[in-house]
Amino acid sequence: MLRQVAEGVLIHQSEFCQSNAVVVHGRAGVLLIDPGVQGHEMACLANDLSDSGQTVVAGFSTHPHWDHLLWHAGLGAAPRYGTARCAGIVRVLLSDAGWKARIAGWIPPDIAEQVPLDLLGLITGLPAGTARIPWDGPQVRIAGHQAHAPGHAALLIEERGVLVAGDMLSDVLIPLLDLNGTADPIEDYLAALRLLEGVAGDVDVLVPGHGSIGGADQVHARIDQDRAYVHALRDAGVPSDPRVGPSATFDWMAGVHAQQLQRLAQRSERGGTPG
Ligand SMILES: [Zn+2]
Repeated sequence: MLRQVAEGVLIHQSEFCQSNAVVVHGRAGVLLIDPGVQGHEMACLANDLSDSGQTVVAGFSTHPHWDHLLWHAGLGAAPRYGTARCAGIVRVLLSDAGWKARIAGWIPPDIAEQVPLDLLGLITGLPAGTARIPWDGPQVRIAGHQAHAPGHAALLIEERGVLVAGDMLSDVLIPLLDLNGTADPIEDYLAALRLLEGVAGDVDVLVPGHGSIGGADQVHARIDQDRAYVHALRDAGVPSDPRVGPSATFDWMAGVHAQQLQRLAQRSERGGTPG
């Protein structure tokens, strides 16, 4: 079911991790950001769109993680985009014959058969430095940064007052750092939060990749909450953060937090830096 969150901007939420697909109305059709997870959900979205006389004219994946790279044949064959970095990573992953099998292993068994991987990751990279998604509709500014995943992008739809945050600024997920290919994941994350703070001035609606939609009052509150978590992680402190506490939406989040602490400690040992 599509729910309008701003003029011409609608959300379709998946059962899996409260994933949000975003539909933006343009002149000749819609832009679809991070389409969803389960096949029947994306088929339902495709039906809702065609029932309202809309076709998908462009797609966008906010980052190279499987749950943001899916597609369904019913959504048509519009060009699908990501940042150059995102598309580069996906190209390498797709050339690895074991990638889809590994993904199938990460998907909860109760929905694994519901996740169609055949059209996974068929995206085109926009040249580095591309400021806006090329399409005929409200301008969608690409705010690329290095946090959570390489080539991660938040999208700002200024005319609609909407910030699509990808996997940042969630009320249910703690900041999940990219601990693999980067020299300073903590500083990268803090820099990305500063970048979002810089573009979020006039935002009325915040759409995280997972979790609930935030109003104007939530934008800075969530930036502050994410920054406080990252500081606690950096200082190996105990975050007072409801997303990992006893009332957390996802009970596995405490384990993810413990793992991030451990990986960061291992990195600083290897780097020989004290503390
Ligand atoms: Zn995600």
